[in-house]
Amino acid sequence: MKIKNILIIFAMSVIGLTSCNSDSCNENPFFSDYGTYLEAPAFDKIKNEHYKPAIIEGMKQQKAEIEAICNNAETPNFNNTIWAFDKSGKLLNKVSGVFFNMMECMSDDEMLAIAEEVMPMITAHSDDIAMNPVLFEKIKYVYDHRTEMGLDDQQNRVVEKYYKDFIRSGAGLNTDDQAKLREINEKLSILSLQFGNNLLKENSNFKLVIDNEADLAGLPQSSIDAAAEQAKKDGMEGKWAFTLSKPSLIPFLTYSDNSILREKIYNAYYNRCDNNNEYDNKAIIKEMLALRLQKAQLFGFDNYANYVLDNNMAKNAATVDKFLDDIFYSANELAKKERHEMQCLYSNNGNAEPIEITRSDWWYFAEKLRKAKYDFDENQIRPYLSLDNVRDGMFMAANKLYGVTFEQRNDIPVYFEGVETYEVKDFDGSILGLLYLDFYPRESKSSGAWCTGFREGGYDIDGVWHPALIQLVMNFTPASGDTPALLNWDETETMWHEFGHSLHAFFSKGKYSRTCGSVPHDYVELPSQIMENWAAEPEVIRMYAKHYQTGEVMPDSLIEKIENSALFNQGFNTTELIAASILDMRYHELTDIDEINNLDVDEFEAQQMRAIGLIHEIQPRYRSTNFSHVFSGGYSAGYYAYTWAEVLDKDAFNYFKESGDLFNPDLAKSFRINCLQECGNDEGMVQYKKFRGQEPSIEPYLEARGLK
Ligand SMILES: [Zn+2]
Repeated sequence: MKIKNILIIFAMSVIGLTSCNSDSCNENPFFSDYGTYLEAPAFDKIKNEHYKPAIIEGMKQQKAEIEAICNNAETPNFNNTIWAFDKSGKLLNKVSGVFFNMMECMSDDEMLAIAEEVMPMITAHSDDIAMNPVLFEKIKYVYDHRTEMGLDDQQNRVVEKYYKDFIRSGAGLNTDDQAKLREINEKLSILSLQFGNNLLKENSNFKLVIDNEADLAGLPQSSIDAAAEQAKKDGMEGKWAFTLSKPSLIPFLTYSDNSILREKIYNAYYNRCDNNNEYDNKAIIKEMLALRLQKAQLFGFDNYANYVLDNNMAKNAATVDKFLDDIFYSANELAKKERHEMQCLYSNNGNAEPIEITRSDWWYFAEKLRKAKYDFDENQIRPYLSLDNVRDGMFMAANKLYGVTFEQRNDIPVYFEGVETYEVKDFDGSILGLLYLDFYPRESKSSGAWCTGFREGGYDIDGVWHPALIQLVMNFTPASGDTPALLNWDETETMWHEFGHSLHAFFSKGKYSRTCGSVPHDYVELPSQIMENWAAEPEVIRMYAKHYQTGEVMPDSLIEKIENSALFNQGFNTTELIAASILDMRYHELTDIDEINNLDVDEFEAQQMRAIGLIHEIQPRYRSTNFSHVFSGGYSAGYYAYTWAEVLDKDAFNYFKESGDLFNPDLAKSFRINCLQECGNDEGMVQYKKFRGQEPSIEPYLEARGLK
């Protein structure tokens, strides 16, 4: 999930920007109500040319709102300062909610050019607000006098949050340091954009083209068909083209009998943006690390990780390091056992020398081992996991837990043909919002899966509630020929995961934008990951896994195989995940600018991985040059958060299981209220304990990962 901006403030610094002329203003759909159901974005009217003028006008309007707060002659109080600020920037939020999401899923050169132009403006605008001395004085006044103002708990919390935001954004720095910070922020915003753009280019630049049918040996028919369709699309009819998108890459690594071709596609994937060409990200990484360190130092932190983590549940780098190191050790040991098992499988009953397994071999031999050990082949379950059934299954589970319903709408404008929209209603019939589902890969879409919103649910300045408009974007195996989209297990879990984020968004309630639905970074994945647990329970699998041709429910023997193999390959999965988390931490724990300037990125990465004893056959899940979470996605010193939240979600789900009812209505109600709806009301751990009655135990996590 993309993290929402913690500080949702934008400001404008560019003086004398030309406003749009009146003609284009009249036509620009951002400048009036869309006139659609629930004011959903009018994608049938929005064109690329509308973004920039709307962003500029949005900044201008917010600037005027901020000036009005600053020029107010009354003594600062909650309403005239905090409330007014909390509700400012309506137009800017409206247009950026569309623009930045379209940047990720409908990108083209024109969009990239607009982004490169508006990003520095928005960053500067944001800095203008954060470092506005009059505004900060007023916020500080309310903060200093908050105990005398008769504020309720939530008002107090909002005041404290904003005060800390301003401090962390530079309001308390002297003018020289503020100027440095502005420069750093502007450079970082551009670099982060360039990092992502390079990755997008390298993702689509590589194709493994096969023209000899024999080279397809081992591949499932669905994979071959998809590659034939891709080749046709690329003007190479009669050949087969494999891409670096997961639905193409993973089956190739898993099933292709040709080790040379496996290695070729593996290297292309792992070496993205490390090819010393125009899309290389190594120089960008060094520049970003240096800027981030300088930023942390401005705020008195010794490294960037400590600056970031000060705002999280984990609080500091030492806590995260200890947390990761403990898990890494067990995971790496487990991965060694898995390697040994794979080697023995091919060592002729243990008589011959164990075979060597290279990095690009892991998926292939793991699949052979799974078949041998559990008689389980993913292709056996796919016919039961049609995309429609998996989607309806998660709707059903949400209905059983929370009483919510989902009704498909065909009258909501969408930005791409095939995007589905659903109206989401609560148990009492009230409207929670709209859910957009965008399933399949395309070149204009970033890889991976995520959940964002065109608009978060919230109250406007007049106290009117606007329901959330939430988007789930995925890159699943598409339908092929007469066969509908059939998902693998990983894709199934991914859909439930992203759906969990959307439930968090739909349920969040709160009077103030600053705290409504707002949680620390290392809590964000709790609402999403917990849904994966339901997806994998036999009782729930029976609810949704039905054969796409016969309608037959997945047989118990097959469900048993899924259950038995749940711990399969967990050493590998956990190791690559934790290794990437450690790599992220090591970069952001650097304390010496000279060391960063002299850094050899590849060597640093290799060195850090040697230092933790990562086995040679495994690389971190993302290598430095393609680690977009960390260098273009808001997860810097934060990739550990997936694991941190997994401890929470496994503990929370275990609570349901121990109650003897997976859909225990009392627990579901309490989880919804404390951990989703009112999650922003207090600190993450406080809200969690209101549900759980105690702090989480790590035991359910270790058990689920096979680490104990
Ligand atoms: Zn997520």
